[in-house]
Amino acid sequence: MNTRKNITFSGISISEGLAVGRAFVFQDIFERDLEAYTIEMEQVDGEYARLERAIEEVLADLSLSADRVEEDLESAIGNIFRAHGEMLRDVAFINEIRTEIERELVNSERALRCVFGRWERKFRSMDSDVFKLRGDDVADLARRLLRSLAGLHSHSLERMPSGSILVAQKLLPSDTTFFSQRSVAGIVVEHGGPGSHCALLTRQLGIPGVTQVPDLLDSIKTGDLLLLDGLRGAVTVAPDRAGQARFSARMKQYYAGSMDAKKHSHESAVTRDGVTIPVMANIGNRHDAETAVENGADGVGLFRIEVFFLSRKILPTEEELVTGISKAIIPMKGKPVTIRLLDIGGDKPLPYLPLPPEPDPFLGRRGVRFLLDYPELLDVQLRALLRISREHDIQIIVPMVTIVDDMKKVRAALDRVGLELGYNTLPPLGAMIETPAAALCADEIAAVSDTLNIGSNDLTQYTMAAGRENAFVYKYFMDDHPSVFKLLQHIGREAKQTPVGICGELAGQSNQVQALLRAGMRMLSVPPPLIPSVKEAVRQARAM
Ligand code: PEP
Ligand code: MG
Repeated sequence: MNTRKNITFSGISISEGLAVGRAFVFQDIFERDLEAYTIEMEQVDGEYARLERAIEEVLADLSLSADRVEEDLESAIGNIFRAHGEMLRDVAFINEIRTEIERELVNSERALRCVFGRWERKFRSMDSDVFKLRGDDVADLARRLLRSLAGLHSHSLERMPSGSILVAQKLLPSDTTFFSQRSVAGIVVEHGGPGSHCALLTRQLGIPGVTQVPDLLDSIKTGDLLLLDGLRGAVTVAPDRAGQARFSARMKQYYAGSMDAKKHSHESAVTRDGVTIPVMANIGNRHDAETAVENGADGVGLFRIEVFFLSRKILPTEEELVTGISKAIIPMKGKPVTIRLLDIGGDKPLPYLPLPPEPDPFLGRRGVRFLLDYPELLDVQLRALLRISREHDIQIIVPMVTIVDDMKKVRAALDRVGLELGYNTLPPLGAMIETPAAALCADEIAAVSDTLNIGSNDLTQYTMAAGRENAFVYKYFMDDHPSVFKLLQHIGREAKQTPVGICGELAGQSNQVQALLRAGMRMLSVPPPLIPSVKEAVRQARAM
């Protein structure tokens, strides 16, 4: 490898911020030379026993990881580890490795690489993005088993010095658990789109991050000094003194600005012409809610509740939903909380609802379309949310509305469930505007909705015809493109008296706040670490 000096690599930002630190290059165990050898027939039982021990160890480790992550983050990642445990208990998988050992007379490492490699390729070649992601799960499990067989009892990220900039080709779910425990100054990954797991987590935790930096690993070694620019999406390797000094000055200014913003983050955000704009948080769990409160959130503008439904064997009960959601929003204490009905579809199957695969899942049965086809799934949520509304100031929002009928049907279901439970007052019901069709007919939809909440991530993907998760077309995925803004302005005008807010990632970009307010947005909901800077941007802007 040839470490280059003072070279700047361009990528794309996945999480705002600036960082200076020494690189910690994460070397994947898969890429190392592992002991792989052939064996004699009489050694087969010995290999089975080694494999058995490794499986037991990994199962114990997975359960520990799940507990640890749930304690720290209470996040969906905990469920991923539980699902990995289930996969490893699958006898068919294990038998395939045993057969490979016996038939090919090879040690466990070699058999395991071969079988897991086959499964990984199989998943990755599938059309569905979800099945492609299962390839990551398989790879992650294989790594854990290989580590255990090699007698490596700690994850190499545990040895990462605090304050490092983590550099990796790709990060898998098991790697990301270490972000919450150790202080990582920044993250650079060669591959992965802005919608990837790792990108969402870095933003949610407020760690600066850059991705799409091809060939970076060829030019970096552990210990190299890096300047990570999560504002412009760039990484400088081994900077010269002048470059370091300029970067330090920018960092000082940026973080002084952030500190200033934080000082006032618990005050309301009022524009220069006197309009108060609630700046709310996007959350998915209790930890997010706590960070939101620390950062001065005026409430929750989007609670994504998918975590309560995915990676389970059976549908959650009404009781489980009431307990889970109520527990997560305790830190909000009386502040308004907007809860979105389950947003899943053909690309995110529920294990207890086997569905036929769809040829084009993102244009398929997503969000409200799915709920209207499975009324029992809708009813259990409405019942739970009505019960929660007795204790909390909540609003319900409906994902993926395309036509006015979508809202009318959910409204009818809410009225019916309210009647069944004997409720006289029902929480407000809002529509998420995430498709160009809904945006263009915002007047009709506003007439039957209490609020309009713009999901700019999906609105961008459908307007620009560029998949959110598709790293090949990320250049088309421009949420600040004039076509997206024209739709926002149209919604702002046509909504008339119905309040309009925005909860996609666009709302968190401080330099867009002025344009968003001018387009008529009167509530901004953003990842918790961005609340102070967005409030500050509101104070500098005019609403009219
Ligand atoms: C959006 O689409 O902008 C949104 C807020 O919802 P999600 O990102 O969960 O699809
Ligand atoms: Mg959406």
